[in-house]
Amino acid sequence: MTDFVTRFAPSPTGYLHLGHACSAFHVWDAARAAGGQVLLRIEDIDQTRCRPEYEAEILEDLTWLGLEWTGPVRRQSEHFDEYEAVLQNLRRRGLVYRCFRTRREIAAAMPAGARPDEGGFVGRPLPASEEDARIARGEAYALRLSLAAARDALGPRYTRLSYLDESTGAARAVPADPRPFGDVVLGRKETPASYHLACCHDDALQGVTHVIRGEDIREMTAVHALLQALMDWPQPVYRFHPLILGPDGKKLSKRAGDRGLRAWRDEGKTPDDLRRMTGNS
Ligand code: GLU
Repeated sequence: MTDFVTRFAPSPTGYLHLGHACSAFHVWDAARAAGGQVLLRIEDIDQTRCRPEYEAEILEDLTWLGLEWTGPVRRQSEHFDEYEAVLQNLRRRGLVYRCFRTRREIAAAMPAGARPDEGGFVGRPLPASEEDARIARGEAYALRLSLAAARDALGPRYTRLSYLDESTGAARAVPADPRPFGDVVLGRKETPASYHLACCHDDALQGVTHVIRGEDIREMTAVHALLQALMDWPQPVYRFHPLILGPDGKKLSKRAGDRGLRAWRDEGKTPDDLRRMTGNS
């Protein structure tokens, strides 16, 4: 066993489909090649969308695929106190502010051409008296990481943010620019955590040395590099795998991509068939 530790971190908001299977094969194959281990983390902080039956099915699907993880499963919903402590740390340092804007207000305040998610939105803290009044009225708010405050806190380290990308073999340092994402949401009034926060916290806590994830999360890794620098968390090495292609090398049809793994299993497909179907044979 080497010190190579990676993880598979699905969100139980639905059944695993071929895209997840593709990612899982990349994760486990990398660990096998390195003589390392895979941890399983259930990213279920969004309690409105996650369901226990999805989680049970995820474990069953992975077992059917022959993918074994090391140690107990970490369920993020059981660790809100840890994420809250990180948020408090960042708030004490003036890095996080309450944002009361509605989705519509944010959309209107976004730079032209920005991504519809959180791309580019930059807000600012309200005067304390207005905040207090809004809280007293029970208004909802998001806790956002202030890019401006982060830049001030990190000084020259901010412009040198980077991460190691090993996707093509040798590790190469890639500059990380979190600006396209603006002031990202790190928590909400009712939920003291977000994907970014919980993911980076757990990668550090669990001693993850290698994160293997889809190309679709490559750019967002810049936000993770920023959080790691602010929290002095150790930074894993990253590998980004191509998104799933069908056996013909073309993008999978929506139907094939959306179908739960059980549907393939019930149809008589084997784990090896799924490897071939996801381009991982
Ligand atoms: N829960 C995330 C997902 O399913 C994890 C991705 C990652 O951080 O690598 O997309």
